[in-house]
Amino acid sequence: MAASGRPEVRAFVGLGANLGDAAQTLRSALDSLGRVAGVRLYRSSSLYRTSPVGASGPDFVNAVAEVVTTLTAPALLSALQAIESAAGRERPYRNAPRTLDLDLLLYGSARIDSAHLTVPHPRMHERAFVLVPLAEIAPERVPGDALARVQAQAVERLDPT
Ligand code: ATP
Ligand code: CA
Ligand code: CA
Repeated sequence: MAASGRPEVRAFVGLGANLGDAAQTLRSALDSLGRVAGVRLYRSSSLYRTSPVGASGPDFVNAVAEVVTTLTAPALLSALQAIESAAGRERPYRNAPRTLDLDLLLYGSARIDSAHLTVPHPRMHERAFVLVPLAEIAPERVPGDALARVQAQAVERLDPT
């Protein structure tokens, strides 16, 4: 139990960017995430370069972060959207190239299906750019055969700089 009186929950956030200096955008998004009141950045994966899946534009840089939070899932999603907005994200059309995309992948063991929020993220198990970084930091959250099913998708781990 945290000082706020709300229980602490472990949540996983998927980060992606494919415009401008995407790696730098992700580093600064991780920094912003750790500064949100009620959110502690617990660990984050390496950065990975991936080809766009169902999207146009340059390669993506992706990562997954684990946070410990006292925020509710909708409040955490709002915080993620505020960080996206601050990075200049616009949504001209679905799957458009984006400066920053932050998805709530997992929120404890919760299953949520509301108008604005579905958790676990409904497409995470189709995506190597989510599963590979998630398996790096939390292999227990990736089902055994899930990685094998996305192995055709190329994901390249970037050297730390
Ligand atoms: P995808 O969800 O397939 O990765 P996307 O990230 O490009 O696509 P967005 O345009 O960023 O989609 O988000 C569309 C809407 O998805 C958001 O307005 C948000 O309300 C909703 N949404 C539902 N569940 C989630 C979730 N788990 N994480 C983030 N957004 C979610
Ligand atoms: Ca997304
Ligand atoms: Ca999103």
